[in-house]
Amino acid sequence: MNNDLLAKYEAIVGSDVIDQLKQMASRLKDARILHVNSTRYGGGVAEILRSMVPLMEALGLSVRWEVIAGDEPFFQVTKSFHNALQGFPVDFTPGSIEIYEENNRKEFEKLEKFLKEADFVVIHDPQPAFLIKLMGERQNKWIWRCHIDLSKPYRPVWRYLKNIVKDYDASIFSMPDFTQPLPHPQYIIPPSIDPLTEKNMDLPDDEVKAVYDRFGLDPEKPLVLQVSRFDRFKDPVGVIQAAIMAMKFIPFQLVYAGGGAADDPEGEIIYQEVQALAKGHPDIHVLYLPPDAHRTINALQRAAHVVLQKSIKEGFGLTVTEAMWKYKPVIGGDTGGIRLQVVNHHTGFLVHTPEGAALRIRYLLFYHEKRQEMGKKAHQFVKENFLITRHVRDYLSLMLSFVS
Ligand code: UDP
Repeated sequence: MNNDLLAKYEAIVGSDVIDQLKQMASRLKDARILHVNSTRYGGGVAEILRSMVPLMEALGLSVRWEVIAGDEPFFQVTKSFHNALQGFPVDFTPGSIEIYEENNRKEFEKLEKFLKEADFVVIHDPQPAFLIKLMGERQNKWIWRCHIDLSKPYRPVWRYLKNIVKDYDASIFSMPDFTQPLPHPQYIIPPSIDPLTEKNMDLPDDEVKAVYDRFGLDPEKPLVLQVSRFDRFKDPVGVIQAAIMAMKFIPFQLVYAGGGAADDPEGEIIYQEVQALAKGHPDIHVLYLPPDAHRTINALQRAAHVVLQKSIKEGFGLTVTEAMWKYKPVIGGDTGGIRLQVVNHHTGFLVHTPEGAALRIRYLLFYHEKRQEMGKKAHQFVKENFLITRHVRDYLSLMLSFVS
């Protein structure tokens, strides 16, 4: 057991929480747990695994994290699955199925030993989901962890995938709305953030202020921020439209800070689109960040007065949690997991349109006290509901339900 790491969490969440985790983990200490996803960097799933795996290890559990590789066509196909599962019709052909399954077959050969020796295999999202079909007879438990909003999937793709995920022993969704009828137990486990990472830990004031110089920002003007991959579901265009509208009434600067994820080939195109839109607006800054810019994102979120997450579809929205943890009210799209976090008028505002976002930007920049009050509530809400310690507890109870 790594008591140093546990002590750091204990300082934030208290000893009761940590004691409970230790008790639960002690009942699973002989179990081997394997997580499999498709990227080690970029995007929410990788972020969570980077924290969850060490915390589970610190609790004395035996945990591995494996990443399946894939070529460009594979990630094109899985990106199209992702879009389809979130409701967008895509080109779904026998060719795409072949690319998907063939890549999984190749990866199965590399991972076979680990997949067979683990007691619990947790497969994240659709990319590696097909691995289960290659297992043959098995004794171990397979859990499909879906981070996507499956509420209104494009049917042809979901029909195909459902035939795969039905073979799992359980599945996990972030919200009740995201579930689909499946012939096994489904668990609702919202994601979480880790307060100890570079992304979320406290930073010295100097470092926070330094972002103004570094990105050519004006220290006299309030800062409104959205941190997101360049992805159409994050509505970067709507964010810029909202800022342009609100800037007519109140001075501020907008930063849209994003990057790509290794498993997302669309990012570059959308980045170009967003840049073209921001051109000629000196108070709109579009930043393309490297995948390891965690500390920079932390500093930007702390420097911000108001944070936006104007997604039109969102599995959960870790960026919302991150900003709330830093005492920022969030103006979020009224969708998916953002609804779990943004309690309208308390921890932020839910909006449907760029106009709505513009109105709330004006409100929060104008009423300083209200902004601070909502920011405090936001922090407390995350502390109670969306830290990694709660997340690990939920995973452990799921696994315990299989052993007891
Ligand atoms: N993120 C990042 N760099 C970027 C954009 C996002 O490190 O350029 C991080 C962000 O801080 C968050 C995660 O990636 O921790 C994104 O998770 P979220 O659930 O918000 O969205 P996803 O990308 O998984 O759809």
